[in-house]
Amino acid sequence: MNGTLSMAYLLAGVFFILSLGSLSSQETARKGNTYGIIGMAIAIIATIVSPAVTVYSVLVPAMIIGSAIGLWLAVRVEMTAMPQLVAMLHSFVGLAAVLIGWSGYLAPSIQHSGAEAAIHNTELYLGIFIGAITLTGSWIAWGKLQGKISGKPLILPFRHGLNTLAITASVVLLVCFVMSPLGTGAVFMLIAMTIIAGLLGIHLVAAIGGADMPVVVSMLNSYSGWAAAATGFMLGNDLLIITGALVGSSGAILSYIMCRAMNRSFISVILGGFGSAGGEVVEDEEYGEPITLTHDEAARYLNDADSIVITPGFGMAVASAQQIVAELTDKLRKQGKLVRFAIHPVAGRLPGHMNVLLAEANVPYDIVLEMDEINGDLANTDVVMVIGANDIVNPDAIEKPSSPIAGMPVLEVWKAQKCIVLKRSMATGYAGVQNPLFFKSNSAMLFGDAKESVQALVNKIT
Ligand code: NDP
Repeated sequence: MNGTLSMAYLLAGVFFILSLGSLSSQETARKGNTYGIIGMAIAIIATIVSPAVTVYSVLVPAMIIGSAIGLWLAVRVEMTAMPQLVAMLHSFVGLAAVLIGWSGYLAPSIQHSGAEAAIHNTELYLGIFIGAITLTGSWIAWGKLQGKISGKPLILPFRHGLNTLAITASVVLLVCFVMSPLGTGAVFMLIAMTIIAGLLGIHLVAAIGGADMPVVVSMLNSYSGWAAAATGFMLGNDLLIITGALVGSSGAILSYIMCRAMNRSFISVILGGFGSAGGEVVEDEEYGEPITLTHDEAARYLNDADSIVITPGFGMAVASAQQIVAELTDKLRKQGKLVRFAIHPVAGRLPGHMNVLLAEANVPYDIVLEMDEINGDLANTDVVMVIGANDIVNPDAIEKPSSPIAGMPVLEVWKAQKCIVLKRSMATGYAGVQNPLFFKSNSAMLFGDAKESVQALVNKIT
Protein backbone atom coordinates (compact mmCIF):
# COMPACT_ATOMS: atom_id res chain seq x y z
CA MET A 1 0.00 0.00 0.00
CA ASN A 2 2.86 2.36 0.84
CA GLY A 3 4.34 1.80 -2.63
CA THR A 4 1.00 2.64 -4.27
CA LEU A 5 0.68 5.74 -2.10
CA SER A 6 4.17 6.92 -3.07
CA MET A 7 3.35 6.34 -6.75
CA ALA A 8 0.12 8.31 -6.42
CA TYR A 9 1.98 11.15 -4.68
CA LEU A 10 4.64 11.12 -7.38
CA LEU A 11 1.98 11.24 -10.09
CA ALA A 12 0.27 14.16 -8.31
CA GLY A 13 3.68 15.90 -8.13
CA VAL A 14 4.15 15.44 -11.89
CA PHE A 15 0.73 17.01 -12.53
CA PHE A 16 1.65 19.97 -10.31
CA ILE A 17 4.86 20.51 -12.28
CA LEU A 18 2.94 20.28 -15.58
CA SER A 19 0.42 22.73 -14.14
CA LEU A 20 3.08 25.29 -13.22
CA GLY A 21 4.73 24.89 -16.62
CA SER A 22 1.44 25.46 -18.45
CA LEU A 23 0.46 28.45 -16.31
CA SER A 24 3.47 30.35 -17.63
CA SER A 25 1.71 31.22 -20.89
CA GLN A 26 -1.80 32.49 -21.58
CA GLU A 27 -2.47 29.97 -24.35
CA THR A 28 -1.86 27.02 -22.03
CA ALA A 29 -3.07 28.52 -18.73
CA ARG A 30 -6.47 26.77 -18.82
CA LYS A 31 -4.71 23.44 -19.37
CA GLY A 32 -2.47 24.32 -16.43
CA ASN A 33 -5.50 24.73 -14.18
CA THR A 34 -6.85 21.35 -15.31
CA TYR A 35 -3.51 19.66 -14.56
CA GLY A 36 -3.51 21.26 -11.11
CA ILE A 37 -7.06 20.06 -10.40
CA ILE A 38 -6.19 16.49 -11.52
CA GLY A 39 -3.01 16.49 -9.38
CA MET A 40 -4.89 17.72 -6.33
CA ALA A 41 -7.71 15.20 -6.85
CA ILE A 42 -5.16 12.36 -7.00
CA ALA A 43 -3.41 13.70 -3.90
CA ILE A 44 -6.62 14.00 -1.87
CA ILE A 45 -8.01 10.58 -2.87
CA ALA A 46 -4.64 8.86 -2.24
CA THR A 47 -4.39 10.48 1.20
CA ILE A 48 -7.96 9.57 2.17
CA VAL A 49 -7.54 5.88 1.30
CA SER A 50 -4.02 5.65 2.78
CA PRO A 51 -3.53 3.50 5.90
CA ALA A 52 -2.55 6.60 7.88
CA VAL A 53 -6.18 7.74 7.86
CA THR A 54 -8.26 5.68 10.23
CA VAL A 55 -10.94 8.02 11.59
CA TYR A 56 -13.34 9.07 8.84
CA SER A 57 -15.99 10.41 11.21
CA VAL A 58 -13.98 13.62 11.64
CA LEU A 59 -12.31 13.78 8.25
CA VAL A 60 -15.42 13.49 6.06
CA PRO A 61 -17.53 16.19 7.80
CA ALA A 62 -14.45 18.47 7.93
CA MET A 63 -13.90 18.02 4.19
CA ILE A 64 -17.58 18.63 3.39
CA ILE A 65 -17.68 21.81 5.50
CA GLY A 66 -14.31 23.03 4.13
CA SER A 67 -15.31 22.35 0.51
CA ALA A 68 -18.66 24.10 0.99
CA ILE A 69 -16.96 27.20 2.43
CA GLY A 70 -14.36 27.15 -0.39
CA LEU A 71 -17.05 26.84 -3.05
CA TRP A 72 -19.16 29.58 -1.49
CA LEU A 73 -16.15 31.94 -1.35
CA ALA A 74 -14.99 31.14 -4.89
CA VAL A 75 -18.42 31.77 -6.38
CA ARG A 76 -18.97 35.01 -4.46
CA VAL A 77 -15.55 36.63 -4.71
CA GLU A 78 -15.22 39.58 -7.06
CA MET A 79 -12.19 39.54 -9.36
CA THR A 80 -11.02 42.71 -7.60
CA ALA A 81 -11.03 40.96 -4.23
CA MET A 82 -8.96 37.97 -5.41
CA PRO A 83 -5.67 39.20 -3.87
CA GLN A 84 -7.30 39.48 -0.44
CA LEU A 85 -8.71 35.98 -0.84
CA VAL A 86 -5.29 34.67 -1.85
CA ALA A 87 -3.72 36.38 1.19
CA MET A 88 -6.36 34.80 3.43
CA LEU A 89 -5.71 31.36 1.89
CA HIS A 90 -1.98 31.78 2.56
CA SER A 91 -2.83 32.46 6.19
CA PHE A 92 -4.68 29.11 6.34
CA VAL A 93 -1.53 27.31 5.14
CA GLY A 94 0.45 29.12 7.85
CA LEU A 95 -2.15 28.26 10.48
CA ALA A 96 -2.14 24.59 9.39
CA ALA A 97 1.67 24.47 9.66
CA VAL A 98 1.55 25.97 13.18
CA LEU A 99 -1.20 23.60 14.36
CA ILE A 100 0.39 20.48 12.81
CA GLY A 101 3.77 21.43 14.33
CA TRP A 102 2.23 21.91 17.76
CA SER A 103 0.21 18.70 17.60
CA GLY A 104 3.35 16.85 16.42
CA TYR A 105 5.10 18.11 19.54
CA LEU A 106 2.30 17.55 22.05
CA ALA A 107 1.10 14.18 20.68
CA PRO A 108 3.90 12.64 18.57
CA SER A 109 2.87 9.59 16.53
CA ILE A 110 6.44 8.19 16.59
CA GLN A 111 9.05 8.61 19.34
CA HIS A 112 12.38 9.55 17.75
CA SER A 113 15.74 9.30 19.46
CA GLY A 114 19.32 10.51 18.94
CA ALA A 115 20.11 12.37 15.70
CA GLU A 116 16.69 11.50 14.27
CA ALA A 117 15.00 13.27 17.16
CA ALA A 118 17.19 16.36 16.62
CA ILE A 119 16.29 16.46 12.92
CA HIS A 120 12.60 15.87 13.64
CA ASN A 121 12.50 18.63 16.25
CA THR A 122 14.29 21.05 13.92
CA GLU A 123 11.70 20.34 11.18
CA LEU A 124 8.89 20.76 13.69
CA TYR A 125 10.36 24.04 14.95
CA LEU A 126 10.91 25.43 11.43
CA GLY A 127 7.39 24.42 10.36
CA ILE A 128 5.90 26.40 13.26
CA PHE A 129 8.31 29.32 12.75
CA ILE A 130 7.64 29.80 9.02
CA GLY A 131 3.95 28.98 9.53
CA ALA A 132 3.53 31.69 12.19
CA ILE A 133 5.27 34.31 10.01
CA THR A 134 3.04 33.34 7.07
CA LEU A 135 -0.08 33.41 9.25
CA THR A 136 0.30 36.88 10.72
CA GLY A 137 2.03 38.36 7.64
CA SER A 138 -0.92 37.22 5.52
CA TRP A 139 -3.39 38.80 7.93
CA ILE A 140 -1.63 42.15 7.57
CA ALA A 141 -1.46 41.76 3.77
CA TRP A 142 -5.20 40.99 3.78
CA GLY A 143 -5.88 44.07 5.92
CA LYS A 144 -3.85 46.32 3.61
CA LEU A 145 -5.38 44.96 0.41
CA GLN A 146 -8.89 45.10 1.89
CA GLY A 147 -8.29 48.69 3.03
CA LYS A 148 -8.86 47.70 6.68
CA ILE A 149 -5.44 49.04 7.63
CA SER A 150 -3.38 51.79 6.06
CA GLY A 151 -1.36 50.80 3.01
CA LYS A 152 1.45 53.08 4.16
CA PRO A 153 4.56 51.38 5.50
CA LEU A 154 4.82 51.22 9.28
CA ILE A 155 8.36 52.28 9.98
CA LEU A 156 9.30 51.60 13.60
CA PRO A 157 12.57 53.00 14.94
CA PHE A 158 15.40 50.41 14.74
CA ARG A 159 13.20 48.18 12.59
CA HIS A 160 16.13 46.25 11.09
CA GLY A 161 17.51 45.80 14.63
CA LEU A 162 14.13 44.48 15.77
CA ASN A 163 14.03 41.97 12.90
CA THR A 164 17.59 40.85 13.64
CA LEU A 165 16.76 40.51 17.33
CA ALA A 166 13.67 38.38 16.56
CA ILE A 167 15.62 36.09 14.22
CA THR A 168 18.57 35.77 16.65
CA ALA A 169 16.23 34.96 19.55
CA SER A 170 14.49 32.34 17.39
CA VAL A 171 17.81 30.71 16.47
CA VAL A 172 18.91 30.62 20.14
CA LEU A 173 15.56 29.11 21.12
CA LEU A 174 15.91 26.55 18.31
CA VAL A 175 19.29 25.40 19.62
CA CYS A 176 17.99 25.18 23.21
CA PHE A 177 14.82 23.39 22.06
CA VAL A 178 16.67 20.80 19.98
CA MET A 179 19.13 20.12 22.80
CA SER A 180 16.39 19.56 25.34
CA PRO A 181 13.05 19.02 23.57
CA LEU A 182 11.41 17.24 26.49
CA GLY A 183 12.81 19.48 29.23
CA THR A 184 10.43 21.51 31.37
CA GLY A 185 11.23 24.73 29.52
CA ALA A 186 10.84 23.27 26.01
CA VAL A 187 7.14 24.01 25.70
CA PHE A 188 7.76 27.62 26.77
CA MET A 189 10.54 27.91 24.18
CA LEU A 190 8.07 26.77 21.53
CA ILE A 191 5.43 29.21 22.81
CA ALA A 192 7.99 32.05 22.86
CA MET A 193 9.16 31.25 19.32
CA THR A 194 5.55 31.09 18.02
CA ILE A 195 4.85 34.54 19.49
CA ILE A 196 8.14 36.01 18.20
CA ALA A 197 7.55 34.57 14.70
CA GLY A 198 3.98 35.91 14.72
CA LEU A 199 5.20 39.40 15.66
CA LEU A 200 7.97 39.17 13.04
CA GLY A 201 5.36 38.35 10.36
CA ILE A 202 3.32 41.40 11.38
CA HIS A 203 6.36 43.67 11.45
CA LEU A 204 7.82 42.49 8.13
CA VAL A 205 4.62 43.01 6.16
CA ALA A 206 3.49 46.16 8.01
CA ALA A 207 6.77 47.81 6.98
CA ILE A 208 6.09 47.29 3.28
CA GLY A 209 4.03 49.94 1.65
CA GLY A 210 2.25 51.15 -1.46
CA ALA A 211 3.45 49.80 -4.73
CA ASP A 212 5.62 47.07 -3.20
CA MET A 213 2.62 45.01 -2.03
CA PRO A 214 2.62 42.74 -5.14
CA VAL A 215 5.98 41.37 -4.05
CA VAL A 216 4.63 40.75 -0.55
CA VAL A 217 1.71 38.74 -1.89
CA SER A 218 4.00 36.46 -3.88
CA MET A 219 6.56 36.29 -1.02
CA LEU A 220 3.81 35.09 1.33
CA ASN A 221 2.91 32.55 -1.31
CA SER A 222 6.52 31.39 -1.16
CA TYR A 223 6.57 31.32 2.68
CA SER A 224 3.39 29.24 2.72
CA GLY A 225 5.13 26.74 0.43
CA TRP A 226 8.21 26.47 2.66
CA ALA A 227 5.96 26.09 5.72
CA ALA A 228 4.18 23.20 3.97
CA ALA A 229 7.52 21.63 2.95
CA ALA A 230 8.84 21.82 6.54
CA THR A 231 5.60 20.21 7.74
CA GLY A 232 6.04 17.52 5.06
CA PHE A 233 9.51 16.71 6.41
CA MET A 234 8.13 16.54 9.94
CA LEU A 235 5.29 14.20 8.92
CA GLY A 236 7.44 12.24 6.47
CA ASN A 237 4.91 13.12 3.75
CA ASP A 238 6.55 13.18 0.29
CA LEU A 239 3.68 14.99 -1.37
CA LEU A 240 3.75 17.89 1.08
CA ILE A 241 7.51 18.16 0.54
CA ILE A 242 7.15 18.21 -3.26
CA THR A 243 4.19 20.61 -3.29
CA GLY A 244 5.67 22.84 -0.62
CA ALA A 245 8.98 23.08 -2.48
CA LEU A 246 7.16 23.85 -5.76
CA VAL A 247 5.05 26.60 -4.18
CA GLY A 248 8.02 27.91 -2.18
CA SER A 249 10.40 28.13 -5.11
CA SER A 250 7.86 29.35 -7.70
CA GLY A 251 6.69 32.07 -5.26
CA ALA A 252 10.28 33.14 -4.67
CA ILE A 253 11.00 33.22 -8.42
CA LEU A 254 7.82 35.24 -9.04
CA SER A 255 8.82 37.71 -6.30
CA TYR A 256 12.23 38.07 -7.90
CA ILE A 257 10.72 38.62 -11.36
CA MET A 258 8.33 41.24 -9.96
CA CYS A 259 11.16 43.01 -8.16
CA ARG A 260 13.12 43.12 -11.39
CA ALA A 261 10.06 44.39 -13.30
CA MET A 262 9.61 47.16 -10.72
CA ASN A 263 13.34 47.88 -10.52
CA ARG A 264 13.32 47.09 -6.81
CA SER A 265 16.00 45.35 -4.85
CA PHE A 266 14.57 42.09 -3.53
CA ILE A 267 16.25 42.56 -0.14
CA SER A 268 15.01 46.17 0.20
CA VAL A 269 11.43 45.12 -0.43
CA ILE A 270 11.60 42.25 2.05
CA LEU A 271 13.14 44.50 4.69
CA GLY A 272 10.37 47.01 4.03
CA GLY A 273 9.82 50.73 3.76
CA PHE A 274 11.59 51.00 0.42
CA GLY A 275 11.25 54.37 -1.30
CA SER A 276 8.61 55.46 1.13
CA ALA A 277 10.06 58.79 2.33
CA GLY A 278 9.47 57.75 5.90
CA GLY A 279 5.91 56.69 5.24
CA GLU A 280 4.68 60.17 4.41
CA VAL A 281 3.66 61.09 0.89
CA VAL A 282 4.88 64.61 0.35
CA GLU A 283 2.95 66.59 -2.26
CA ASP A 284 4.92 69.69 -3.01
CA GLU A 285 3.77 70.62 -6.49
CA GLU A 286 1.04 72.66 -8.11
CA TYR A 287 -0.29 70.75 -11.08
CA GLY A 288 -2.96 73.13 -12.39
CA GLU A 289 -6.22 71.99 -13.97
CA PRO A 290 -6.54 68.89 -16.15
CA ILE A 291 -8.17 69.01 -19.58
CA THR A 292 -11.47 67.17 -19.67
CA LEU A 293 -13.23 65.54 -22.60
CA THR A 294 -16.84 64.71 -23.42
CA HIS A 295 -17.70 61.28 -24.81
CA ASP A 296 -18.20 62.85 -28.26
CA GLU A 297 -14.73 64.42 -28.20
CA ALA A 298 -13.09 61.21 -27.03
CA ALA A 299 -14.90 59.20 -29.71
CA ARG A 300 -13.68 61.68 -32.33
CA TYR A 301 -10.07 61.13 -31.26
CA LEU A 302 -10.56 57.38 -31.61
CA ASN A 303 -12.28 57.73 -35.00
CA ASP A 304 -9.42 59.85 -36.31
CA ALA A 305 -6.64 57.59 -35.00
CA ASP A 306 -4.86 54.92 -37.01
CA SER A 307 -3.01 53.36 -34.06
CA ILE A 308 -4.49 52.96 -30.59
CA VAL A 309 -3.00 51.44 -27.45
CA ILE A 310 -5.23 50.52 -24.51
CA THR A 311 -3.63 50.47 -21.06
CA PRO A 312 -5.87 48.78 -18.52
CA GLY A 313 -5.40 49.05 -14.77
CA PHE A 314 -7.11 48.21 -11.51
CA GLY A 315 -10.09 50.46 -12.35
CA MET A 316 -11.00 48.29 -15.35
CA ALA A 317 -11.31 45.37 -12.93
CA VAL A 318 -13.36 47.46 -10.47
CA ALA A 319 -15.73 48.49 -13.24
CA SER A 320 -15.82 44.95 -14.77
CA ALA A 321 -15.32 46.74 -18.06
CA GLN A 322 -13.31 44.03 -19.84
CA GLN A 323 -16.18 42.76 -22.01
CA ILE A 324 -17.15 46.18 -23.28
CA VAL A 325 -13.46 47.04 -23.79
CA ALA A 326 -13.18 43.89 -25.93
CA GLU A 327 -16.24 45.03 -27.90
CA LEU A 328 -14.71 48.47 -28.47
CA THR A 329 -11.46 46.83 -29.58
CA ASP A 330 -13.32 44.65 -32.04
CA LYS A 331 -15.19 47.60 -33.48
CA LEU A 332 -12.03 49.68 -33.89
CA ARG A 333 -10.13 46.76 -35.46
CA LYS A 334 -12.94 46.22 -37.95
CA GLN A 335 -12.32 49.81 -39.08
CA GLY A 336 -8.77 48.76 -39.96
CA LYS A 337 -7.11 50.48 -36.99
CA LEU A 338 -4.09 49.01 -35.24
CA VAL A 339 -5.33 48.34 -31.69
CA ARG A 340 -3.05 46.84 -29.05
CA PHE A 341 -3.02 46.44 -25.28
CA ALA A 342 -0.11 47.49 -23.07
CA ILE A 343 0.18 45.41 -19.92
CA HIS A 344 2.26 46.50 -16.93
CA PRO A 345 3.58 43.62 -14.79
CA VAL A 346 1.91 44.95 -11.62
CA ALA A 347 -1.28 46.38 -13.13
CA GLY A 348 -4.31 45.56 -11.00
CA ARG A 349 -3.98 43.87 -7.67
CA LEU A 350 -2.48 40.48 -8.43
CA PRO A 351 0.14 39.11 -10.79
CA GLY A 352 -1.35 38.63 -14.27
CA HIS A 353 -4.60 40.39 -13.23
CA MET A 354 -5.11 42.20 -16.56
CA ASN A 355 -4.14 39.18 -18.66
CA VAL A 356 -6.79 37.11 -16.89
CA LEU A 357 -9.49 39.75 -17.45
CA LEU A 358 -8.64 40.23 -21.12
CA ALA A 359 -8.49 36.46 -21.72
CA GLU A 360 -11.90 36.16 -20.05
CA ALA A 361 -13.23 38.74 -22.54
CA ASN A 362 -11.66 36.81 -25.46
CA VAL A 363 -9.26 39.59 -26.48
CA PRO A 364 -6.80 37.94 -28.94
CA TYR A 365 -3.49 37.13 -27.21
CA ASP A 366 -1.37 38.49 -30.03
CA ILE A 367 -2.51 42.09 -29.48
CA VAL A 368 -1.83 41.95 -25.73
CA LEU A 369 1.75 43.13 -25.25
CA GLU A 370 4.00 43.33 -22.21
CA MET A 371 5.43 46.68 -21.10
CA ASP A 372 8.88 46.02 -22.56
CA GLU A 373 7.39 45.02 -25.91
CA ILE A 374 5.29 48.16 -26.36
CA ASN A 375 7.01 51.00 -24.50
CA GLY A 376 9.26 51.81 -27.48
CA ASP A 377 6.21 52.05 -29.78
CA LEU A 378 4.17 54.48 -27.69
CA ALA A 379 5.80 57.57 -29.22
CA ASN A 380 4.46 56.43 -32.62
CA THR A 381 0.94 55.85 -31.33
CA ASP A 382 -1.90 58.22 -32.15
CA VAL A 383 -4.07 57.62 -29.09
CA VAL A 384 -3.40 55.82 -25.83
CA MET A 385 -6.50 55.03 -23.78
CA VAL A 386 -5.68 54.57 -20.10
CA ILE A 387 -8.59 52.64 -18.59
CA GLY A 388 -8.66 52.77 -14.77
CA ALA A 389 -4.87 52.78 -14.43
CA ASN A 390 -2.85 55.24 -12.39
CA ASP A 391 0.44 54.20 -10.72
CA ILE A 392 1.57 52.17 -13.72
CA VAL A 393 1.46 55.25 -15.99
CA ASN A 394 2.92 57.78 -13.54
CA PRO A 395 5.84 59.72 -15.10
CA ASP A 396 7.13 60.60 -11.60
CA ALA A 397 8.37 57.02 -11.29
CA ILE A 398 10.98 58.00 -13.87
CA GLU A 399 11.25 61.76 -13.44
CA LYS A 400 11.03 62.38 -9.69
CA PRO A 401 13.64 60.56 -7.57
CA SER A 402 11.86 61.51 -4.31
CA SER A 403 8.59 59.84 -5.40
CA PRO A 404 7.58 56.75 -3.39
CA ILE A 405 7.34 54.87 -6.68
CA ALA A 406 10.65 56.22 -8.07
CA GLY A 407 12.56 53.59 -9.98
CA MET A 408 9.51 51.54 -10.96
CA PRO A 409 9.42 51.19 -14.76
CA VAL A 410 6.13 52.53 -16.10
CA LEU A 411 4.23 52.57 -19.38
CA GLU A 412 5.35 55.82 -20.99
CA VAL A 413 1.91 56.70 -22.32
CA TRP A 414 2.56 60.46 -22.25
CA LYS A 415 4.82 59.99 -25.29
CA ALA A 416 1.81 59.23 -27.52
CA GLN A 417 0.20 61.98 -29.63
CA LYS A 418 -2.85 61.95 -27.39
CA CYS A 419 -3.51 60.25 -24.07
CA ILE A 420 -7.11 59.81 -22.87
CA VAL A 421 -7.48 58.78 -19.22
CA LEU A 422 -10.71 57.08 -18.15
CA LYS A 423 -11.33 57.29 -14.41
CA ARG A 424 -14.00 58.59 -12.07
CA SER A 425 -12.15 61.44 -10.36
CA MET A 426 -8.71 62.87 -9.69
CA ALA A 427 -8.19 60.35 -6.87
CA THR A 428 -4.79 58.72 -6.49
CA GLY A 429 -4.05 55.05 -7.16
CA TYR A 430 -2.79 52.34 -4.83
CA ALA A 431 0.51 54.05 -3.99
CA GLY A 432 -1.36 57.20 -2.91
CA VAL A 433 0.63 59.60 -5.08
CA GLN A 434 -0.52 62.29 -7.51
CA ASN A 435 -0.03 61.60 -11.19
CA PRO A 436 1.38 64.46 -13.35
CA LEU A 437 0.26 62.55 -16.48
CA PHE A 438 -3.26 63.87 -15.92
CA PHE A 439 -2.06 67.47 -16.26
CA LYS A 440 0.09 67.13 -19.37
CA SER A 441 -0.95 69.17 -22.42
CA ASN A 442 -1.45 66.08 -24.60
CA SER A 443 -3.50 64.28 -21.92
CA ALA A 444 -7.21 64.61 -21.27
CA MET A 445 -9.53 63.11 -18.68
CA LEU A 446 -12.74 61.28 -19.56
CA PHE A 447 -14.43 61.15 -16.17
CA GLY A 448 -16.89 58.42 -15.21
CA ASP A 449 -17.09 54.74 -14.44
CA ALA A 450 -14.90 52.89 -16.96
CA LYS A 451 -17.66 50.54 -18.08
CA GLU A 452 -20.14 53.35 -18.70
CA SER A 453 -17.56 55.51 -20.47
CA VAL A 454 -16.43 52.69 -22.77
CA GLN A 455 -20.08 51.77 -23.48
CA ALA A 456 -20.72 55.39 -24.47
CA LEU A 457 -17.68 55.29 -26.78
CA VAL A 458 -18.85 52.03 -28.38
CA ASN A 459 -22.18 53.71 -29.12
CA LYS A 460 -20.49 56.72 -30.67
CA ILE A 461 -17.80 55.03 -32.76
CA THR A 462 -18.99 54.98 -36.34
P1 NDP B 1 -4.06 52.03 -9.33
O1 NDP B 1 -4.59 51.45 -8.08
O2 NDP B 1 -2.80 52.80 -9.30
O3 NDP B 1 -5.15 53.02 -10.01
C1 NDP B 1 -6.42 52.53 -10.33
C2 NDP B 1 -7.27 53.72 -10.73
O4 NDP B 1 -8.49 53.19 -11.20
C3 NDP B 1 -7.59 54.65 -9.59
O5 NDP B 1 -6.84 55.82 -9.64
C4 NDP B 1 -9.10 54.88 -9.71
O6 NDP B 1 -9.34 56.28 -9.86
C5 NDP B 1 -9.48 54.16 -11.00
N1 NDP B 1 -10.77 53.48 -10.86
C6 NDP B 1 -11.23 52.77 -9.82
N2 NDP B 1 -12.46 52.33 -10.06
C7 NDP B 1 -12.80 52.76 -11.29
C8 NDP B 1 -13.94 52.63 -12.10
N3 NDP B 1 -15.04 51.98 -11.70
N4 NDP B 1 -13.94 53.22 -13.33
C9 NDP B 1 -12.86 53.92 -13.75
N5 NDP B 1 -11.74 54.07 -13.02
C10 NDP B 1 -11.71 53.49 -11.81
O7 NDP B 1 -3.98 50.82 -10.39
P2 NDP B 1 -2.85 50.42 -11.43
O8 NDP B 1 -3.38 49.18 -12.08
O9 NDP B 1 -2.45 51.59 -12.26
O10 NDP B 1 -1.59 50.06 -10.53
C11 NDP B 1 -1.60 48.93 -9.68
C12 NDP B 1 -1.13 49.35 -8.29
O11 NDP B 1 -1.49 48.31 -7.36
C13 NDP B 1 0.37 49.50 -8.23
O12 NDP B 1 0.72 50.50 -7.31
C14 NDP B 1 0.81 48.12 -7.74
O13 NDP B 1 2.06 48.13 -7.12
C15 NDP B 1 -0.31 47.83 -6.73
N6 NDP B 1 -0.51 46.41 -6.42
C16 NDP B 1 -0.41 45.49 -7.43
C17 NDP B 1 -0.52 44.14 -7.14
C18 NDP B 1 -0.29 43.13 -8.23
O14 NDP B 1 0.11 42.01 -7.92
N7 NDP B 1 -0.55 43.50 -9.48
C19 NDP B 1 -0.83 43.67 -5.74
C20 NDP B 1 -1.00 44.75 -4.78
C21 NDP B 1 -0.84 46.08 -5.14
P3 NDP B 1 -10.81 56.87 -9.50
O15 NDP B 1 -11.08 56.46 -8.09
O16 NDP B 1 -10.65 58.34 -9.68
O17 NDP B 1 -11.77 56.28 -10.47
